[in-house]
Amino acid sequence: MLRFSSVARSHVGLVRENNEDAGFSGPYLQLVADGVGGCAAGEVASATAAYVVSALTMMDRSPHLLELLDRAVETVQSQLRAGVTAEARRAGMGTTLTAILTDQDRFAMVHVGDSRAYLLRDGDLVQLTHDHTLVQHWVDAGQLTAAEARTHPRRSVVLKALDGTHDVEANLVMLDLEPGDRLLLCSDGLTDYAPPAAVHAALRVPDKDEAVARLVDAALRGGGRDNVTCLLADVEDGPVLCRDGRLVGALADPHLVVDPAAVHVPHPA
Ligand code: CA
Repeated sequence: MLRFSSVARSHVGLVRENNEDAGFSGPYLQLVADGVGGCAAGEVASATAAYVVSALTMMDRSPHLLELLDRAVETVQSQLRAGVTAEARRAGMGTTLTAILTDQDRFAMVHVGDSRAYLLRDGDLVQLTHDHTLVQHWVDAGQLTAAEARTHPRRSVVLKALDGTHDVEANLVMLDLEPGDRLLLCSDGLTDYAPPAAVHAALRVPDKDEAVARLVDAALRGGGRDNVTCLLADVEDGPVLCRDGRLVGALADPHLVVDPAAVHVPHPA
């Protein structure tokens, strides 16, 4: 049975006071969410998204992984709406979401925003996600090179995020993963500050704890002006494990989740 062997680390960075990233890393789910919003609402958005998706995918054993993730996104949206209704000062909060789920056989990914997932296979690094950003839009249109996008002053403009207000079409795709594959999920606090060569070199370090430490260190050495969250997951074949996981960043504070009691799997009729 396929599963993840993973480590996760979230660092507030060198400049910010709050960590608006949240993550969940377990044997069957890897997830990163990067929140935005004033008055500590970014943490609420990312922690709520991370809680909703991790809780629902642990409770719901539907074999239809993409539908399950799609329903989870809808619940994130309704919980963010409820969060703004409960406290108007949270208006405008939103979050990215990048998550990879496995049913122990197949793998599905949901993606909204500018957090990223990468696959390291046989030494080659492939980006699995496509940034929903203005600069990526310009790269796709041939108006900017990827190298120019990395340093463009408007690189932080995100075109899609979960905010409970706007209808967002999340990218939902199945992934063809196999034992020996290594995944990196990260917030833009890594990719904006760590040089790509340093990321690639860190990912090739066999020990995952050491690799993640090097990733975070590379972001901090590059300026660390944003929160940085990295999840490293090796796909492996082995016995079924308890559905559990490590909570990092804003998700480590359960008080930030809008309404955990409202998140449940409907009983079948
Ligand atoms: Ca960020």
